[in-house]
Amino acid sequence: MVKKVHHVVQRPGRDAGDPDVVIPVAEDLASVPGSPVRDRDVTFYSREYPIESQTVEKSADREWGWTQYIPDVLRLSRKHEEANKPLIEAAAVSGEIEPTASVVAEVDVTASIREKALDLGFGEVGFTTYDRRYTYASKKKWSKYQHAICLALEQDYGQTQTIPSLEAEFAHFGTYEVEGELGLQLADHIRLLGYHAQVHSPNGDDSGAFIPLFVDAGLGQLGANGQLLSPHFGSRARLMIITTDAPVVHDEAVDYGINKFCDQCQVCVARCPARALLQDKVWYRGVLKNKLIYDRCRPIMTKYEGCGICMKVCPIQRYGMQPVMEHYVATGDILGKGTDNLEGYEIREKGYFGPGELPHFDRQTFKFPKGTKEEVLFAQFKAKVEANGAVGDGEAVEFANDLKHIVDEGVSRTDE
Ligand code: SF4
Ligand code: SF4
Repeated sequence: MVKKVHHVVQRPGRDAGDPDVVIPVAEDLASVPGSPVRDRDVTFYSREYPIESQTVEKSADREWGWTQYIPDVLRLSRKHEEANKPLIEAAAVSGEIEPTASVVAEVDVTASIREKALDLGFGEVGFTTYDRRYTYASKKKWSKYQHAICLALEQDYGQTQTIPSLEAEFAHFGTYEVEGELGLQLADHIRLLGYHAQVHSPNGDDSGAFIPLFVDAGLGQLGANGQLLSPHFGSRARLMIITTDAPVVHDEAVDYGINKFCDQCQVCVARCPARALLQDKVWYRGVLKNKLIYDRCRPIMTKYEGCGICMKVCPIQRYGMQPVMEHYVATGDILGKGTDNLEGYEIREKGYFGPGELPHFDRQTFKFPKGTKEEVLFAQFKAKVEANGAVGDGEAVEFANDLKHIVDEGVSRTDE
């Protein structure tokens, strides 16, 4: 059934010289630019219950993850950690570096930064206020500047379609490594314009939730899979930001029709092997969204090559936003929905699953240590006390030593 077009979104082409991308948004998909937000709730939650990074808040399951990888993924992850170290270190001090030239009043800094970022290879570039409400508690003092430059680097298309696989993990890690390096280069360019630039590392030391900033900068909308659906490459985007005191002109949020399109599509929800994605949106920390169940996703992601099926089966990722929205306007249907081409995937040792088919995992698969390492240690100690009624000197000393080890390791990636 042909749909009426409510509005048309026009964006620059993917590469320099490409024609503009024109995305028709059907009448029944129109909602609000960006995400539906209750601003006061976002403020309340950020003040009373600030978000925290997975590195800090879920340190126990991060450690557990290393014990669950298959050998190939373990090797790849170790290499990735090594490659990341210098990038993280350079980003951590980047905000302290003084500009390397004086400001030239005639230069259009927004255009210059955008042009340089595109030259470097970023596929999406946008500018917005650095909204500190989305900054991790442990990074609030570290983050310095008031403007955010949102940068998305596309992950290889072909490798992404092999998800879940070692090849796709290679693409995932590799894209972040390249992105970390490019971000440092762009920061150098900003300093040459006479301003400060702080690189928020995309290499495992994130400073906060980046997607709300990308949405505010008009670079896409939040999909039901919890990922940014960007106009050029959907969720096949790896995100980073640079904050700066350069007086950049901010972009505006856009309604691409995604908020309502996801309600009808639901392919990621139906195809998630862990049943971790929910059909209905809820208000969560002031934003209306589909909330992922972390405890269902985490074990499958860890054990099966980073999973990512919710990225692979998304039609916006697979076919692009323009063709998907044009198809919706022309037919009222979701392009590719119900086909093996879009929905099929293969999971190691489980086999192939076409539309309507999901793998089965036993309960044990979903058991893993929750929270921080010290929380897990305390819980284990408490269980011992409850079971035995008392603890011996040896057990108490062992507990104290284990706790000291965790404290000594510290949380090296916080403001401390
Ligand atoms: S990564 Fe896999 S398990 Fe996690 S939400 Fe996506 S599809 Fe589900
Ligand atoms: S698969 Fe469908 S429902 Fe899920 S994020 Fe993509 S467009 Fe939205």
